[in-house]
Amino acid sequence: MVLLLFGPPGSGKGTQSASLGRWLQIPVVSTGHLLRSEVEEGTPLGLVAKDLLARGALVGDAVMNDMIAARLRRPDCGNGVILDGYPRTRQQAEYLDQLLPERGLPEPLVLHFDAPDPVLVTRLATRLSCPACGRVYNVKQRAPKRLGYCDQEGVALVSRSDDQYGVVVERLRTYREQTAPLIDFYRGRRLFQVNADRGPDEVLDELKGAVDSILVRSVRRRG
Ligand code: AMP
Repeated sequence: MVLLLFGPPGSGKGTQSASLGRWLQIPVVSTGHLLRSEVEEGTPLGLVAKDLLARGALVGDAVMNDMIAARLRRPDCGNGVILDGYPRTRQQAEYLDQLLPERGLPEPLVLHFDAPDPVLVTRLATRLSCPACGRVYNVKQRAPKRLGYCDQEGVALVSRSDDQYGVVVERLRTYREQTAPLIDFYRGRRLFQVNADRGPDEVLDELKGAVDSILVRSVRRRG
């Protein structure tokens, strides 16, 4: 099973991908997370990406496509993968269409999350994440048990530098201009729309229902 989590920043892709990954026992690949690691390690790619991330702009397609190709080559992706934050442009989506069959992976199920901009901006302004495991918290909807610390790792939570208001506005603009048109690219294929302006448990239940029905349909087709 290949899931593409698609939606604006703050729509809950990170939270839901982690839950779905545990449920389906397949890895989650977040291109944003991979890029932030490169920046932290100060690699040549990280040095180039740092400024783009800080401005809320996209990293080039060729770099992103190579990154995904290398990651999907790893054996843990043999049974499927959840992609969070890729593809983000038409060029990336076309590249992925070639790559999945080459890796023996099936046609993706695209989960499209959306919520109104004011909801997204408020969520991002109150979001904290764990620098060790990437788990995302929100004081309103998903507060940590001990204020300011990760439930799992016990380390202090941090706010992403690109969650500052000015950068958030730019990331939303980039999303609406460059990424949202991909919904048309996937229309008529396995595309499931989800209202992300709800609590994480409610959204997860709906996503599990969508994934279940796809699995049942593909088993029937094979049988
Ligand atoms: P995210 O964690 O998905 O919000 O991504 C954080 C930042 O990483 C984005 O604002 C982009 O600058 C960059 N990024 C992540 N994924 C991609 C992608 N598929 N293509 C281009 N840039 C990306």
